Amino acid sequence: MALPQNPWSFDAAMKTLVSTLQDPMGSNICASRLSLAEARVTAELNTRSSMAGKTKFAKSHPELLRAGIRFLTFKRSPSEFAALINHLVDCQCDFEQSGMREQHILGKRASEGLSMYAMRHTFNAAIECINMVLIATTKNKFYRRDRSLAERKQPWPLSPEDLLPYGVDDAIQAWGFWATSDAAGYVIYKLAATLGSFYDPLAVAIIQSPDYTFSLRRPMEILTTMMDDFEKDPATMQQEVEYPIRATFDFFEMLLPHSEQFIPALRDMSSTVTPALDRLRRLLPSLPGFSTWKYNPEEMITLALSIANDPEFHAPVLADMAEWAFNEMIAIRKGGCNYVFCPRTRDNAHASRCASCDLARFCSKECQTKAWKMQQAPHKTVCAKIRALKDQLGQPFWAKLWTNGMTGEDALGLVQAKGVDLDDVSEIGRLLNMIMSLKGMSRDFGVS
Ligand SMILES: [Zn+2]
Ligand SMILES: [Zn+2]
Ligand SMILES: [Zn+2]
Repeated sequence: MALPQNPWSFDAAMKTLVSTLQDPMGSNICASRLSLAEARVTAELNTRSSMAGKTKFAKSHPELLRAGIRFLTFKRSPSEFAALINHLVDCQCDFEQSGMREQHILGKRASEGLSMYAMRHTFNAAIECINMVLIATTKNKFYRRDRSLAERKQPWPLSPEDLLPYGVDDAIQAWGFWATSDAAGYVIYKLAATLGSFYDPLAVAIIQSPDYTFSLRRPMEILTTMMDDFEKDPATMQQEVEYPIRATFDFFEMLLPHSEQFIPALRDMSSTVTPALDRLRRLLPSLPGFSTWKYNPEEMITLALSIANDPEFHAPVLADMAEWAFNEMIAIRKGGCNYVFCPRTRDNAHASRCASCDLARFCSKECQTKAWKMQQAPHKTVCAKIRALKDQLGQPFWAKLWTNGMTGEDALGLVQAKGVDLDDVSEIGRLLNMIMSLKGMSRDFGVS
């Protein structure tokens, strides 16, 4: 059955979405109409075909970003939370009013029965826009107030208070309510992953959340519920498993650099984490479309399991990190275009190497120029560091590092003998890894 055309105009949809997020109890819109308004905003976002275009759209609506973050991080008591959901799903709309029927694609009855699950889709546009802006903004760096702009059009975020208006602890408690154990809870983890990667104090506070409920218990419940559903009826799951899994592990990857807090947390929670992750590891190959997933969580599962169960496990030492950096460099030297928002979907092995660092490849002059000065992870920075390493080693030695069959371990052995500073090498790895993970996140938005 073809659905009737969405009756909302973009401006009206945006206005309604923002005002509802700002004052949900004061609004008289029901979740059914609200979800159509949300769909209209998302449709507008999707008319921007490039990641840069989508980011520009998101940045140009700071009122949506601010309203969204306020709505999602405002701590409510369980009864206030229930009242909010009831208020929004309770349809009081007057169906005699002209055009109103069209705004309820599923009819009045259905809108009364809208669940929490459907409810959460009404703020997806806000979450997507928040994520996109933060991915494109330098870590821990806030925008400057622009005096030429009105207050509501000031770029977001201007300060930690603008990022999380009710503070870190309230945000985590609020997310605890939104992230219930059904699979759609993953959207909140996607949001927490981008916010925590942007702002370190949040990441640390998440790990230390009471009883590890938000950091570890809930993610394991989401994975377990998803696996239960899959085993009960594999056919109903289809492609729905990749995103929840990906969001969960993006979330863990965000926590991992805070190893002083994260390692003890995983150990304390070993009896919860181990069975869930063991089961997921066994189940992975049979999950729908697994072989075509853009992201493979196996490495992260193995790492989490060894941290949780091996008391000898320690945070990686400098040599490990340098080895890992060389593996990253080997992959990048072989791989496709290094520009985060490269419009080509498939990796292009024939992309040519940057003349300065002789390592990163770009598929076109355009990608290279954009990569050079992109805001969050400019190639300019890492290029200079790679260049310095290369100059220190000399060309013939440099070329030897990239011969076929050379592993990160081999390369590390060679440069260690040359007395290279491993801090410099692991810094290169960290910068290159940031580019690769941004690339992964930008692919999540389905940019063609
Ligand atoms: Zn209604
Ligand atoms: Zn490219
Ligand atoms: Zn370069």
